[in-house]
Amino acid sequence: MMASQNKSKGFSKFKRILEPLVVGKTIIANRIIMGSMHTGLEEGNENDFRRMAAYFAERAETGVGLIITGGISPNPEGALDDAIFQKSDDIPKHKIITEAVHNANKETKICLQILHSGPLAKDKNLVAPSAVKSRIGRFLPNELNDVSLKKQIDDFVNCAELSKSAGYDGVEIIGSAGYLISTFFVSKTNLRKDDYGGSFQNRTRFAKEIVQNIRQKLGNDFLIIFRIPAMDMMEGGMSWEEILILSKGLEDSGVSIISTHFSWHESPVPTIATMVPRAAFTSVTKRLKERVSVPVITSNRINMPEVAERVLENNEADLISMARPFLADSQLFLKIKEGRDQEINTCIACNQACLDHAFARKEVSCLVNPRACNETTLNYFPVVKKKKIAVIGAGPSGLAFSEIAAQRGHKIDLFEGSSEIGGQFNLAKKIPGKEEFYETLRYFYNALKKNNVNLILNKWVNNSDLIGKGYDEVVFSTGVNPRSINIEGINSKNVISYIDAITGKRVIGKKIVIIGAGGIGFDVAELISHGVRNPSVNIEDFASQWGIDFVNHPRGGVTGIPSLFEKSDREIIMLQRKVTPVGIGLGKTTGWTHRLSLKNKGIRMLKGVEYRNINQDGISISVDNKLTFIEADTIIVCAGQEPDRSLYESAKDEFKKHLIGGAFEARELDAKIAIKQASELAAHI
Ligand code: NAP
Ligand code: SF4
Repeated sequence: MMASQNKSKGFSKFKRILEPLVVGKTIIANRIIMGSMHTGLEEGNENDFRRMAAYFAERAETGVGLIITGGISPNPEGALDDAIFQKSDDIPKHKIITEAVHNANKETKICLQILHSGPLAKDKNLVAPSAVKSRIGRFLPNELNDVSLKKQIDDFVNCAELSKSAGYDGVEIIGSAGYLISTFFVSKTNLRKDDYGGSFQNRTRFAKEIVQNIRQKLGNDFLIIFRIPAMDMMEGGMSWEEILILSKGLEDSGVSIISTHFSWHESPVPTIATMVPRAAFTSVTKRLKERVSVPVITSNRINMPEVAERVLENNEADLISMARPFLADSQLFLKIKEGRDQEINTCIACNQACLDHAFARKEVSCLVNPRACNETTLNYFPVVKKKKIAVIGAGPSGLAFSEIAAQRGHKIDLFEGSSEIGGQFNLAKKIPGKEEFYETLRYFYNALKKNNVNLILNKWVNNSDLIGKGYDEVVFSTGVNPRSINIEGINSKNVISYIDAITGKRVIGKKIVIIGAGGIGFDVAELISHGVRNPSVNIEDFASQWGIDFVNHPRGGVTGIPSLFEKSDREIIMLQRKVTPVGIGLGKTTGWTHRLSLKNKGIRMLKGVEYRNINQDGISISVDNKLTFIEADTIIVCAGQEPDRSLYESAKDEFKKHLIGGAFEARELDAKIAIKQASELAAHI
């Protein structure tokens, strides 16, 4: 069924990536897939579809082989939101997308993802093989009877037919993640006694009938990709033998491509967060690839082409799905094709503007690229009148502003007081599990150079540096200072700031108290509790930390394997005054991994704390009016930041002034807001 043409074309650096793949009568132009990523526009009107069309077309233009849309339900009972494709009335909306993609590049294929969320649906009429509530579902699902079960299959087929009519080259059926189809595979969610339950063969029947019926209706030219739970990371999940039986059954039923997916959403194992090593799961795809004859897709934490090339080189997969990296850089594939990988704006797997937004039902974008999904509204057009602009501070906002404003044609002098660019990112990159920040800094270094930004390092700017220099406008991205807090004894020698803790400027003892448990408190705790193992870069360490057995692949990949977190050799206690759970404000999709990781390393967290006083031996606090003294040889203050506006406030009005990033607003500051604000200013200045 599969044949690959060994003709490599274009730049030779990523030879395997650029090889086409023939699947039946379809030629996929190369091995990179822009994977499915919900944008939050799928449930919208024609205007939202035009925005999606622009987003996809900009990426199709670069020549990426295949694009898969965000998940769309085949019926209301399977919907996660209002993204449903059940009626022919909606064909014209979808045509806006398919025509835009095919017009942008006739070689790029586009498939619609059919996502029936089953027990995770938002609708009270939700359905599942059995009435078993998901740990993360809102409602108890209704058990499918004979009639409603057949209706679900018909709805999948109908959705595929509508997709074909709308101009899609195929569909991707999601049969993983704890959505409807996957709950048929697992005995604890499928208690049925009929032909769709009981033996494993029976439990695969629903999936196979969907594929068979679509293939029969739509013929051999239509791509059918099926996402299987290749390792569901669930206690009592699927065994390796069952995964093989399922894959063979799908192959016989007519799938064109099998896509390997890892973990159900309710699994307590991280699979996409930045703390997951790159390409952590490709060994599983490789084992499957050796046992099936259809092409196999791998995914998860493959964010740079050298990783993708290595995976292909090692025959671990036929195709590489990169979803979030296409949000981070719309020109990703062009840069791969032209060997300009050092210019890629790398996805740092933070989830802050993509999945955190998707799960909060907000429009998706990207922390490092706020243009993502805003291609029709946020554009960086060449300037009509060139201006001379000084930018003070090369943190995230100063960097983003300088790059974009210079790219548009302005003349930019970017001043930075320290010896390197990056600001707060230089602290972030030192945190175990946040190594991807090095990529962002590499990106900005190259982007500044390419756009002829005049970067002046080691220069603390004062007013006289700005006067009489001909600046039309000055942008103050002067960042933040750690918040000074008022506790008796705060000036004791054992009290240090998070900056000194992260940069290693001050020695840290063995008994630690962390004041403040926000993002930076968690980062500091992660850093100072780090042992000899490196789970964010070493796959064996990652596997043992989270209890995954990649070699023997027991049920779910995790059953019976203990999670072995390296206990910290320091005694660490994190404190906060709020009474809400500690760490509740961290990212929606990643916060739990940080909380779990620190808890498993033995770090204690106290909420509802009142600070009394500090002395050289520790800190007195009270919780629920109970006074306690905590011994501490080091107390690290992670109590947030205050804007540094001193230069802005004292600057003369000789030029137009702008305040951005942390200097504008330090409360709740994060890089997502800072880069977005900077990009919007740079687009219009
Ligand atoms: P933050 O999230 O605002 O947390 C500040 C902490 O200090 C809070 O726990 C707060 O808790 C405490 N605090 C505030 N004022 C205090 C005072 N006067 N005395 C004692 N404690 C005080 O700030 P951050 O941790 O510095 O992080 C800065 C920004 O970077 C945040 O917006 C964060 O989202 C972002 N960031 C994110 C991540 C991430 O993982 N996504 C990582 C690092 C940084 P109480 O008021 O309850 O005591
Ligand atoms: Fe990647 Fe973060 Fe952008 Fe999402 S928001 S695409 S995880 S860089």
